[in-house]
Amino acid sequence: MSGFQRMTEQRRLILEALRSTTCHPTADWIYERVREKLPHISLGTIYRNLRTLVQMGEIMQLDYGSGQDRFDGNPEPHYHFRCCQCGAVSDVEIPYAHEFDVKAAPHCSGTITGHRLEFVGECNQCKTNRQEEAEVNEMALFKCTNCGHEREARCKPRKCPECQSQNSYEKVEQK
Ligand code: ZN
Ligand code: MN
Repeated sequence: MSGFQRMTEQRRLILEALRSTTCHPTADWIYERVREKLPHISLGTIYRNLRTLVQMGEIMQLDYGSGQDRFDGNPEPHYHFRCCQCGAVSDVEIPYAHEFDVKAAPHCSGTITGHRLEFVGECNQCKTNRQEEAEVNEMALFKCTNCGHEREARCKPRKCPECQSQNSYEKVEQK
């Protein structure tokens, strides 16, 4: 296989992983998914391909200075909601406000090609977890419903360190 084809295959799998989810994943999440098909791929290669895909306009990189880069398989302009607790990002289904660009144009010392807007707050899952945390104070066993990983904690773990699933833990009832 030539280098070019290998790159294409890597990019195809990265795009496939990205477009199979609405979770706006991190590079680490994409790495874990793609590694199931290409076990020898490195995280550096994932990053390089992600950068290329962003440059090609195939995907979007969401940073907005939040420190945790996430990627979006949908490159069309749209808005996001980010949870300040867990970093979860979801789409906000309101129309893209092109009129902002027109309004801002006379105030910008350059040509506007678009704008980015991120709504921030606390997601419903974190809100629920916070309410549950207030109730649970004894150590309990939790099991990840995705990969079966078990861990002891005082409250429901938010993220599974094994399979990277968010909010996948269920409390195991012990006899
Ligand atoms: Zn959250
Ligand atoms: Mn999105």
